[in-house]
This record gives sequence, C-alpha cells and structure tokens, in this order.
Amino acid sequence: MRYVIANWKMYPQKREDALRIFSDTVALTQRLSGIRVAICPPFVWLSLVAAAAKSLVWLGAQDAAWAAEGAFTGEISPAMLKNIGCKMVIVGHSERRKHVEETSEMIAKKTAAVLGSGLYAVLCVGERQREGEWEKEIIAQTRSAVAGLNALLVRRLIIAYEPVWAIGTGRADTAGDAVTSILLIRRVLTDEIGDSAAKEVPVLYGGSVSEKNVREFSSEPEIDGFLVGHASLNPAEFARIAQAAQRGGKR
Ligand code: PEP
Repeated sequence: MRYVIANWKMYPQKREDALRIFSDTVALTQRLSGIRVAICPPFVWLSLVAAAAKSLVWLGAQDAAWAAEGAFTGEISPAMLKNIGCKMVIVGHSERRKHVEETSEMIAKKTAAVLGSGLYAVLCVGERQREGEWEKEIIAQTRSAVAGLNALLVRRLIIAYEPVWAIGTGRADTAGDAVTSILLIRRVLTDEIGDSAAKEVPVLYGGSVSEKNVREFSSEPEIDGFLVGHASLNPAEFARIAQAAQRGGKR
C-alpha cells in the first residue's frame, strides 16, 4: 500500500478556501484504489473538513502534544484529534524542528503518544544539508524516535524521508539518492525494531514533489509514497501525483 499525504502547512487562510480545497481533493482522489490518500490541514480547519471527509480519504493533523492530557495551554492531544476523526498525525516535521525547536526527546514522546492513542504517526526525518556526515543526522533522528517502541505501536508507524534542503525549494532529491537514504532508514529500523517489523514500515519521500517529478520517484519500489507540501494545495496537481503513485506502486 502506498501513501500520498497532503501537508497544507499554514495554508489556506480562509475557511471557504479550506473547504473548497478539501472537497475538490476528495472528489479527485477518492476513487483511487491500492493507495491511501490523507489530507493534513491546519488544526483550525480539521473539524470543519471532518464533516466532509469520506472514509476512503484520511484526515490527519500536522502536529500533536507529547502528552496524553494535562495542563498544556495551547496544545492539542492525540486523543482530541482521534475524537474528531483524524487517523494520522505528522510528527517532527523539519519546519517544527527548526522554527519551534522541537527536540529529539520531544519528537520521541510525540511519536509514542500519537501511536499509543491509536493514530498513525508520520515521523519526518532528513538531513539539513547534504554535506559532511549528513547520514548521521538521519540515523540519529530515526533511532531516537523509534527506540523503545513496541511491536504493536510500530504497526502504525510511517516514516517520511524529507531532506530539508529539498522542502519548499523546488529542488527535489533524485529518486536514486532518496532510495539510498530510505535504505539507510530501513537499516536503522531493523536494528531498533527487528527485521520483520522494519519491513512493514512504509517509508515515503517528501521534498518538492510535483506532477513533473513524481513519475521518477514512483518507479522506485522502495519509495512507499509521498508527503506533499505546496503541490497539495492544488487539488488537480495533488490528484495527478496520487495517480502517478498508484500507477508506479508495487508493494
Ligand atoms: C512538506 O511540507 O513536508 C514538504 C515536503 O513540502 P514541499 O512539498 O513544499 O517541499
């Protein structure tokens, strides 16, 4: 099963635009089979679009609190997200690592909290620059978030390999290099959770995926789908990305 996940980032600014983008995306993607489409709008639009969500298109959030409940002003718990119909949560996106200084410790706690509440976690990992010992950054991010997760929780884990330099820049990775990093992530997963569990974890690519480059990535069986940022705000382009992922998918 391949996943194609829309990360709307902090867009759109108006509720009518959120409703339109959501319903157009659902209409254009809901008949695709063999592929899981998910849409992750900002928190404020979640309840609004949840009413329009069809069961075949998943609703997801862009973040969640690291704790199940408590006095954490401004935070949103995984249980709240589940209660309004979310199926997944993006965790450790590089924009959160950078702009709100989310630490590895916090991301590990969030990953466990999200999985523990019955939601899928889309854990984002990726190097800031492709220079020096950049692989070590990917290894450390992956290891710290998955260490100690039990086999039941890992069943809902998805990893998005997102080289930071490729996000929002229009400069996507090459499919070949993305596969090399994905295989590295798989080796870390094998070390931490064992071979058979590691094989079941979908590893996606994200970073300037567009309708122009998606075919190249889709032809790689090691790439289990895509986390799509800017292009996901255009329902027609997002649908073409999902169609290409469906055609190229093998697992
Ligand atoms: C993202 O937001 O995770 C992302 C990959 O963004 P973009 O597709 O715009 O690079």
